[in-house]
Amino acid sequence: MRAGSACPDGTIAVIGGGASGVLVAAHLLRAARQPLDVVIVDSRAPLGAGVAYSTGDARHLVNSPSCEMSAFGDRPGDLIGWACAQGCEVARSDFVPRSLYGRYLSHVLAEARRHTNSASGLSWFREDVVALTRQSRPDGTAFVLGFAGGGHLDAGHVVIAVGPPSPRAPWSGDAELIGHPGLIEDPWGPRSLDRIGPKASVLLLGTGLTMVDVALTIAGGGTNERSLYARSRHGLLPLAHRTTPVEAWRGRLETAETARELVRAIRVEAEKIEFAGGDWRSVVATVRRQVPELWSALPVAEQRRLLRLGLRYWEVHRHRMAPPVDAALTRLRQGGRLDVGPGRLLALSARGAKLRAQIGRARGDEVLDVDVVVNCTGATGGYPGGSRLLGQLVRTGLATVDELGLGLEVDEHGDLVGADGASDPGLHVVGWARRGQLLESTAIPEIRAQAERLARRLTGAHP
Ligand SMILES: Cc1cc2nc3c(=O)[nH]c(=O)nc-3n(C[C@H](O)[C@H](O)[C@H](O)COP(=O)(O)OP(=O)(O)OC[C@H]3O[C@@H](n4cnc5c(N)ncnc54)[C@H](O)[C@@H]3O)c2cc1C
Repeated sequence: MRAGSACPDGTIAVIGGGASGVLVAAHLLRAARQPLDVVIVDSRAPLGAGVAYSTGDARHLVNSPSCEMSAFGDRPGDLIGWACAQGCEVARSDFVPRSLYGRYLSHVLAEARRHTNSASGLSWFREDVVALTRQSRPDGTAFVLGFAGGGHLDAGHVVIAVGPPSPRAPWSGDAELIGHPGLIEDPWGPRSLDRIGPKASVLLLGTGLTMVDVALTIAGGGTNERSLYARSRHGLLPLAHRTTPVEAWRGRLETAETARELVRAIRVEAEKIEFAGGDWRSVVATVRRQVPELWSALPVAEQRRLLRLGLRYWEVHRHRMAPPVDAALTRLRQGGRLDVGPGRLLALSARGAKLRAQIGRARGDEVLDVDVVVNCTGATGGYPGGSRLLGQLVRTGLATVDELGLGLEVDEHGDLVGADGASDPGLHVVGWARRGQLLESTAIPEIRAQAERLARRLTGAHP
């Protein structure tokens, strides 16, 4: 099959070749009973890595034990088996390097291609999709994808797996700061941290998992003299995993009508289990699976309140650090290399080559003069963000942004809902863009389940 082919029967175009796109493609090929053409479109290489698994820093570990990171819901040992075959001894409770996990995803895709029936195929177009239009034709084409490079691709179904919006730094609207060499808007950009001098003072904006990764990289295992400050509104760091996996709590939460009730119910169960000698993490593990139900039961005003008041607390308990990462971060803090605290960025200005940050804190403002400021706030911008494709989909009414601006409006199957309020059975959404519907839709276990369900539905395979 070629770009612009007039014979798109059975073609499923997957926009985005990160973990979501690769898991969808692999599950489609494995489930296919009829000949199927799966086409992944993404300019980024290698397939599967996306931002999360592109890092070459071996200190960057996945944030779930290996038994939870398999590409297959019914084969939790798949990652472990593959890693052992590569000569890496990995136990169920180990947290593997993210670069290794990226290689695992490439392997999953290659294996799916190898096992697929001979009439099916997988192709990869290294392109960015900038437009998607509906164009029903008798040959079965339902959609045409337009590429930034000028070509196009016809498809019967389209899966939108484009990941989160690009990071947007707090200073991005400030014309005076544009181009300042000390500002790093996207820490995941190619070699973006390389320009930090060996004795630089560095302010990290954000105290979540992105900050943790960046701090470990730029502290360089003690091989330089950089001093690091991390600030966020709450100043909360992600909590750590236990070294051994915890059993999931066997209870179940009732749906709540307010954000306050919901937060209270989770806290009460966590306290009860701790009191009985258990671990709060087991409540989080169970509640995580119930999140879509609990979230969708809240009225929109309460969802908004939860995002404002409770999300950060949920995230530090839910998106935890691997124990070795926690230990490395603790060493940095105890050694005086990293200072973490609460504080809101009130103003940022250039002072020659330096930068002055004014930080609002409860006990009086703080002024930090630093050489470098790194945006570690993650995917803070809402949808459609800077994406040309998503902007076009919203403008043409093929897609709508959900009420809270977290993702795209979808129906119960994850099919895209347009401006007319109807869902399109040919347009499917996987991963981050379903946050408005599910809230928890960004990590491998959730993405894997979505990919498996979609593949079964599109191929007619039995559950
Ligand atoms: C630093 C980091 C670490 C993480 N660690 C973990 C972890 O340890 N465990 C875990 O479960 N989750 C982790 N996550 C969550 C992570 O989001 C998921 O695990 C997963 O990688 C998301 O994959 P994705 O394909 O949805 O998004 P992405 O990885 O962002 O991939 C999206 C892809 O879509 C492409 N794309 C976007 N727009 C277009 C377009 N218009 N045309 C063509 N292609 C397009 C992009 O180029 C990109 O390759 C981490 C996330 C980050 C950022």
